[in-house]
Amino acid sequence: MKKWIRGGTVVTAADTYQADVLIHGGQVVAIGHDLDGQDAEVIDAAGCYVFPGGIDPHTHLDMPFGGTVTADDFFTGTRAAAFGGTTSIIDFCLTKKGDSLRSAIAAWHEKARGKAVIDYGFHLMIAEANDQVLDELESVVANEGITSLKVFMAYKNVFQADDETLFKTLIRAKELGALVQVHAENGDVIDFLTKKALAEGNTDPIYHALTRPPEAEGEATGRAIALTALADAQLYVVHVSCASAVQRIAEAREKGWNVYGETCPQYLALDISYLEKPEFEGAKYVWSPPLRERWNQDVLWSALKSGILQTVGSDQCSFNFSGQKELGRGDFTKIPNGGPLIEDRMAIVYSDGVVPGRISLNQFVDVCSTKVAKLFGMFPRKGTIAVGSDADIVIFDPNVKRTISAKTHHMNVDYNPFEGKEVYGEVVSVLSRGSFVVRNKQFVGQAGAGQFFKRDTFVRP
Ligand SMILES: [Zn+2]
Repeated sequence: MKKWIRGGTVVTAADTYQADVLIHGGQVVAIGHDLDGQDAEVIDAAGCYVFPGGIDPHTHLDMPFGGTVTADDFFTGTRAAAFGGTTSIIDFCLTKKGDSLRSAIAAWHEKARGKAVIDYGFHLMIAEANDQVLDELESVVANEGITSLKVFMAYKNVFQADDETLFKTLIRAKELGALVQVHAENGDVIDFLTKKALAEGNTDPIYHALTRPPEAEGEATGRAIALTALADAQLYVVHVSCASAVQRIAEAREKGWNVYGETCPQYLALDISYLEKPEFEGAKYVWSPPLRERWNQDVLWSALKSGILQTVGSDQCSFNFSGQKELGRGDFTKIPNGGPLIEDRMAIVYSDGVVPGRISLNQFVDVCSTKVAKLFGMFPRKGTIAVGSDADIVIFDPNVKRTISAKTHHMNVDYNPFEGKEVYGEVVSVLSRGSFVVRNKQFVGQAGAGQFFKRDTFVRP
């Protein structure tokens, strides 16, 4: 059935204008005034923004970590994403040394199948770059639609790859048209500082941050960039948290290199002092990279504004405080890293970014959706409202003020890192390929309605 979104203000990365949107067959078929909405279901969007659904480039759903598994799976995670205005995610498919890429990908498809309520794609972790892996990558990129590869420079003896692995991956990615992503922290330095802290009896959550100093991120970011330049490849630095890393990315882009960066809501809105909360509550704020000193927030916002950083991902990786985060009592290295962020990503960027004028409304759409679609081979099917694009659309009321809380969020986890924070704006309804997932703030989606999205190879945006 046709749907006719009437009376709203359409917002894309480029424009803000009054227009109606007509949807048919899961796609946008017309934008403008006096549309032929005969037989269409009318959706009243008066007083609301109508923008393309968010695309979260960085999620970990149903992921094993540190002897436990994330609290949100592909159903609860994508449902929460939809409540926050996100209509596509790209999740990280983990691999193990010695396993074929194909079997790892099959296992990840199994996690998502029948559960996702919005569309999804995968990034693929590269744990080692032997001949078999490098061979297999050709078909992964060309046939499986997985066109971004993740290399960890941290988590020694767990995920960490060496520079040879990163360099070989970059060279292969250049040949195949894949975008290489790095978790940029110097894992060897962190490993040394961590052991030292524990030996000195420093076991509280704050030491998670103190053993991962900003320069460990800056150094790894700079090293990944140097290797990218040597390989003449393309690089996307995930979860940039601090000025040291921003500076390296800025310098690379100044030189015209193909280097991009993402930050996350926690680095934009929280700071290192949260790790010092009493009663072990600091464990709720354990991310890698860690939260930084507050002044870094201004650096990150201006990097988004100026285009040094292009995207905001959630790095959704939720663990309950009770029973999961608590595994690290008495030893901060046993606190599962990560937090629940998939639902509030866009709320933080809108409320802390657009409302105080740090970025424009169009930049909000760009960093949460459009630029993600362009960098990860999804544009123009996703990431914009245009004739022929998928009708992944959010109706957003900017006039509402509300309070974020674990009591009302939709993630399957017992706390919210932004508990008590007042934000402006509220997602009213969300459409995925023309079907309601959220309608008047009620979930009406279906487990399994989300489709795997095969992505195109990298094109410099
Ligand atoms: Zn991550």
